Amino acid sequence: MRKQRVYCPYCAEPVVRREVEGKARDLCMRCSTVFYENPLPVASAIVVNEQREVLLVQREKEPYRGMWCLPIGFAETGEEVKDAALRELEEESGVKGKIVRLIDVDTVDNDFYGSLAIVTYEVRAAGGRLRPGDDATDARYFSIFDLPPLAWSSNDKAVKIYIDMYRDTWAMMDSFRQLFPDFGPPHTVSQDTPSHGSLLSNILIKIIDRDREEITRSWAGEVEDGIPSLAACMDVLMEINRTVLQGIQEGLEQKRQPFDRERFVEAGRNLRRLGLPLPDILNALALSRKSIWVHVIGKKILSSPLEIYSTLELNNRIIFLYDRVNYHITEGYMG
Ligand SMILES: [Zn+2]
Repeated sequence: MRKQRVYCPYCAEPVVRREVEGKARDLCMRCSTVFYENPLPVASAIVVNEQREVLLVQREKEPYRGMWCLPIGFAETGEEVKDAALRELEEESGVKGKIVRLIDVDTVDNDFYGSLAIVTYEVRAAGGRLRPGDDATDARYFSIFDLPPLAWSSNDKAVKIYIDMYRDTWAMMDSFRQLFPDFGPPHTVSQDTPSHGSLLSNILIKIIDRDREEITRSWAGEVEDGIPSLAACMDVLMEINRTVLQGIQEGLEQKRQPFDRERFVEAGRNLRRLGLPLPDILNALALSRKSIWVHVIGKKILSSPLEIYSTLELNNRIIFLYDRVNYHITEGYMG
């Protein structure tokens, strides 16, 4: 329990409680020392995984024994508060972490410890092995939207701030997931991530230009497997797909010359001459559009929420460009 000061540590005189500078404080009448109460710094870590689950530890000791909370503990003299957050995280849960950002500083008056300044950091898990450690009987992840009652009100506050901060990002990721259900959210960052200064559309233009052959080959594999009626003419189709990708690339670049319709009309005529069914051709073009994103996601260039958001916008532009390609190919086919 919170300890009361009885004697002055400097002259051993019993202290008295008096109003000093507008507040009741301990005072030594003999040596005139005023004992100011300062909050103790406490560091806490909020670690959230890709499933939007928060790492909690179950307290082994009082106060709040048996209750769950974020990994938390006192910062020591000479220790950075951030380092204390990482140390407590590892000691209590076995998880090693990296500081992402400061989430909240909350000053509370606690019955057990007195005045505390609880500093909570967002931390990304970066290794270690999840197991309950010092002062914890259990450590596990709970859905951020369905947490058990937390020991510290400051933890509740920090979780709320965290949710408010990520709400938009999660909404964007969910739209992305709806758009590309096969791939899941693009959360991983590869080592060769392009500089984040460059626009995603520029990155995409470069990727389509550089990897046109690779994208076409994996698309061809999918068409051969999925649309048997086209399998006999893959060479011609691959050549058309290269032209289509080039058209998409030029459309994204917004080159000054108008979108070159003639090459697609010509491709359409060609495809009719070969006797390939039009619905299957349009199907293959839908796969072609998808193949661009399969490739981009495979390259793991999408990392930040902004990039995911740009992806949705870019996808709309690509859909528009493919609509024109489809139209001109159909035009040539029917003509
Ligand atoms: Zn004294």
